[in-house]
Amino acid sequence: MTEASIQGQNAKGDGLLPLTILGGFLGAGKSSWLRHQLHQGLLRDQHIIVNEAAGTPVDNLLLGKATRLTVLAGGCACCEGLTTLIATLRDICDQASGQDAGKTTGILLETSGLADPGVIASAIAADPILARRLRLSEIIVLADAQHGTSQLMEEPLARAQAETADRIIMTKTASAPPDQTARLLATLRLLNPGARIEAAELGIPRDLPEPGQPYALPAARADTPDAPIRPFRLTIGGASRDDDVLGWVALSTWLSALLFARGKDVIRVKGVVRTPAGRLLLQSVRHVMQPPEILPEIMPETFAGPQPEEGVIVLIGRNFDAGLIAQSWARFGG
Ligand SMILES: [Zn+2]
Repeated sequence: MTEASIQGQNAKGDGLLPLTILGGFLGAGKSSWLRHQLHQGLLRDQHIIVNEAAGTPVDNLLLGKATRLTVLAGGCACCEGLTTLIATLRDICDQASGQDAGKTTGILLETSGLADPGVIASAIAADPILARRLRLSEIIVLADAQHGTSQLMEEPLARAQAETADRIIMTKTASAPPDQTARLLATLRLLNPGARIEAAELGIPRDLPEPGQPYALPAARADTPDAPIRPFRLTIGGASRDDDVLGWVALSTWLSALLFARGKDVIRVKGVVRTPAGRLLLQSVRHVMQPPEILPEIMPETFAGPQPEEGVIVLIGRNFDAGLIAQSWARFGG
């Protein structure tokens, strides 16, 4: 089963610390999946590393249950943040054979949605120290049944992620049309015949459908590559004041307008804002806003990372001019 296998991986007796890489495109549900495993009391002996491309510790905030957790700042762990990742992994290996001996029996790295797990795996293998201390035990890639197909069609990165997986977990199958899920399953099997494919809803294992007709994917290297996907940080002053109902209304109106106008270019919106109802976690997958989540005022003691930054929205997408977006918000209500 999904849950038992990660725990069971330390029993190999080769003296190497097993590393699990959890990947998947933006919005595939990596944090929800991980949160569920932690909530079930699983992964207790794992050192969890969370990497957010834009450095906003939202996921970290949701992972209060982890015993040992490191938030990896400094950008995506497969590119800008690679040096930091290698240093962090070395530290954790030292701890695991020192103060945490017998307690940390593995590492799970939740990558950012922009990471190519294959690049991380190669970098670890090429590091002379890590190569003697770590064993890449599994690459788990989550594929969102709702958006997975268009991501495989349009984003070479999504395809690279699926291709590198040892295990693919299809998520959000309940919210996708059954024939689409069936076809995505067949497409994933074609793309990565070696991977074990499972399904899960918010981390809870589900049955896979019968595979359908695979989609025909375009050639892997398009002649005109898309503009790269980048994160943009936007400070949204007004709406973060406690009594500022107008600021909050302005922000949600402006965000809806932005998603409407630029929906194709927006891959993810994430942020924590102060509203009259409390601190809200806002997020969108593609141009669809998710229901806002009210965050506790005081974070639980088990919360290991920095406090979530209020009043900052991170937009992840392409073809954005950060200055123009900031100006647009300033004119609208900032
Ligand atoms: Zn990267």
